[in-house]
Amino acid sequence: MQMPIADFHCDVLFKLLEDERLSFRDDTSGKLDVTYKRLKQAKSVFQTFAIFVQPGDNAGIEPYFKSIDLFYRCVLPNPDIAFIQYKDDLERSLAEGKIGAMLSLEGLDGLQGDPAMLRIMYRLGVRAAGFTWNNANWAADGAMEERGAGLTAQGKAFVRECDELGMMLDVSHLSERAFWDMVDTASKTVIASHSNAASVLPHKRNLSDDQIKAIIALEGLIGVTFVPYFVSGSEVVTIDDLLRHVERICELGGERHLMLGSDFDGIARYIDKLHNPADVIHLQDALLKRYSARQTERFLSGNTIRFLRERLPERSSS
Ligand SMILES: [Zn+2]
Repeated sequence: MQMPIADFHCDVLFKLLEDERLSFRDDTSGKLDVTYKRLKQAKSVFQTFAIFVQPGDNAGIEPYFKSIDLFYRCVLPNPDIAFIQYKDDLERSLAEGKIGAMLSLEGLDGLQGDPAMLRIMYRLGVRAAGFTWNNANWAADGAMEERGAGLTAQGKAFVRECDELGMMLDVSHLSERAFWDMVDTASKTVIASHSNAASVLPHKRNLSDDQIKAIIALEGLIGVTFVPYFVSGSEVVTIDDLLRHVERICELGGERHLMLGSDFDGIARYIDKLHNPADVIHLQDALLKRYSARQTERFLSGNTIRFLRERLPERSSS
């Protein structure tokens, strides 16, 4: 039986931003991975839509607003999509069998250190923030920045502002030092929306065992990601290769802290048989060969839903 799925990271809004003619509802161009039709097919109960904007020192705020506008115009109007901003949105969405859709930020370059912009993003419904993409910006160094510095003073101030607002903190693209700075500065837990285990495949975008253990100790979540070059060094990457990351995170105590962070629409290459949300059934089949139905259900959606039930803000607190 097909289990419901929850995914904490996709970049379809970026593709829509680049080419507004693409149809989220039912793309026929073959250019989109995540579409409404496929989310329905995949029994999706929750999907995070990342706002990714070309990073850089001169990045402005406009593309962020345009991405949010696309989310409002192209994603939300579909009949079984429910906008997730507060706890009660999630409960209603689950009760009605809808697909919960949440906004997140992947890089804060264009916010230019202005906390007013962060508060406006929150008001518009954004509920998770990754401070960098792979580059360095005013807030922090990203994972691929050679300098490897941590959070700036402005970055730390933004961590506190996020905690106060109820904006979840996403460590996935941070440098290792910025990761620890964020963990030390935050008063609440952190998530890694789309990262794998560096002890299985050493890559700067993956998390060391100590980082994974820290997220688990903080009751956070780690989204295993389907980006083939974060999974294995082989030419052809398989679902079995991805399961080695699942296994490692579980060995470190993460059975209740593991989720999916596909990165669909953010990748040009794919894991074999894992090209879009409808293909997650193949991952389910593979998981069920090694894990119980209960564990598999946790990985595919249970852990994410449990976390969101705890972490989403109450409507009255806005
Ligand atoms: Zn990413």
